[in-house]
Amino acid sequence: MLEKESPIWRPLLQMKNAPPPLKVKRAEGITLELEDGRKLINCVSSWWVTLHRHGHPKIAEAIYKQALTCELVNFSDFTHDPAEDLAKRLLSKLPASFTRLFFSDDGSTSVEIALKMACQYWHNCGVKTRRSFFRFEGGYHGDTLGGMSVGNDSVFHRPFLPLLFEVTTVPFPDTYEGDTAVEQKEQSALQAIEQSLRESPEKYAGIIIEPLIQAAAGMRICRNQFLKKLRDLANRHNLLLIYDEVMTGFGRTGDWFACTKSGIAPDILCLAKGLSGGFVPMAVTVCNEKIYQSFLDDTFEKAFAHSHSFTGSPLGCAAALASLDLLEENEESFRSLEQLHRAHLEKLRQHPKVDRVRCCGTIAAFDIVTKESTGYLNPVGKVMKERLMDKGFYFRPLGNSLYFMPAYCITQKELSGAYAAIESCLETI
Ligand SMILES: *Cc1c(COP(=O)(O)O)cnc(C)c1O
Repeated sequence: MLEKESPIWRPLLQMKNAPPPLKVKRAEGITLELEDGRKLINCVSSWWVTLHRHGHPKIAEAIYKQALTCELVNFSDFTHDPAEDLAKRLLSKLPASFTRLFFSDDGSTSVEIALKMACQYWHNCGVKTRRSFFRFEGGYHGDTLGGMSVGNDSVFHRPFLPLLFEVTTVPFPDTYEGDTAVEQKEQSALQAIEQSLRESPEKYAGIIIEPLIQAAAGMRICRNQFLKKLRDLANRHNLLLIYDEVMTGFGRTGDWFACTKSGIAPDILCLAKGLSGGFVPMAVTVCNEKIYQSFLDDTFEKAFAHSHSFTGSPLGCAAALASLDLLEENEESFRSLEQLHRAHLEKLRQHPKVDRVRCCGTIAAFDIVTKESTGYLNPVGKVMKERLMDKGFYFRPLGNSLYFMPAYCITQKELSGAYAAIESCLETI
C-alpha cells in the first residue's frame, strides 16, 4: 500500500482505476460541501435514501435523544416504545391486509427476509415443492446471495452464478411517454408466467417485483394496470406476491407507497432506504396475517429463525418516527414534485439526444441517445456525470439513463437550475 493511499476498499468500483473519492466536509439541505470548497446540489438523494434533506435537525435530535435513553436491546426478549409506535404507525399507512412486521437493517436484509418468509410459508403449509420465484428482467433486490438470485444477472453476478438459486425471469413491461407497445409487453410478461406455471405448477413460492419503478435498471417504469393484472394472476395461482419497495417507499412515487398509489396489496412488502429519512440503516418486512399464522405452532420448527444484531434498533425506530412526522406534516413535499418535473420534461423531450422520457412522482428519467449499446456500462453516463459535476450538480447516471431523484426539500429554483445544466451538458456530448 502506498503511504498516502487510503486503506478503504470502496463499493461498486474497480479500485485499480477508480477516481479518488471527493471528501465531503458537510451535508446540509440539498447541498454537499466538499473539502476543496466546492458545493454540489445532490440530485439523487445519495443512494436513494436522503428523504427530506441532509442534516434535518428533527431527525438528528430524535436519534440523539434516543441514544441517551436506550440505544439497543435484545429484541428477542425486550421491546421499547419507538419500535411499538413505529410498527403501529407504519401499519396505519399501509393497506389494511398488512398486520405484522419484522425489523432488520437494510434493503438487502429486508428482501432476504421476504424470500425466506415466502419459502417457509409453503414449508410450514406442508408444501415442500414451492421453492422458486418469478423475477423480472432488470430487477434489483440487493447484493446478498438471495437478493442476487432474484436480481439482475448482469456482469455484477458472474462469479457467484453457481451459488445462486434457480429463478424464472420474465420480461419487465417498462413503458415511457409515447410508448405504443405497452399493452403487448404487459401481455407477454403475464403469458410468460402462465406458461411456466403450466409446465411446473407446484414449483413456485411467489413473484418478486419492484412495483411501478425498477430503480437500478435505469428507473424503468411500469403501469398500475400491470400490477393489478399481476395481483390477479398471483391470486389465481396461489402465488405469494412480494413488493420490494426499498426504493419506492415513503413518497418517492408521489404517494406514500407504490402499493397505496396503485391500490394493490401484495402479501409481503420490503421497506428500507427512506424509512429512517436516510439517517441510519433500518428496514422492515411487512406481511399479511395469512403468512404470519402459518408460522404459529406448538413446536419451534415452524418459527421464523432469523435475526440480526441490530434488529429493532431504537435509533433506527426513533429516526423513522421523526421522518414519518415530517412526511405527515408536509405531504405536499412529495406529492407536488411530479408536476414540477413534468413542466421541465416537456421542454427536454424535444431535445434530439433525449429518448424514453418517464416520470413517476418525485423521480424523473430519460435515456441519452447514443451510438454504443445501452446498459450500465455505457460510457455516456460517466461523461454526463463529470460535466454536471463541473456545473455544481451531483447526478449518478445508470448507463445511458439519466435520472433525477432529489430530496423533498429541493426548491423550484434548484430544480430549474439542474434541468438547465442537463440541457447545456447534453449539447456537449
Ligand atoms: C437499494 C435496493 C435494495 C438493497 O438495499 P440495501 O439497503 O442497499 O441493501 C433492494 N431493493 C431495491 C429495490 C433497492 O433499490
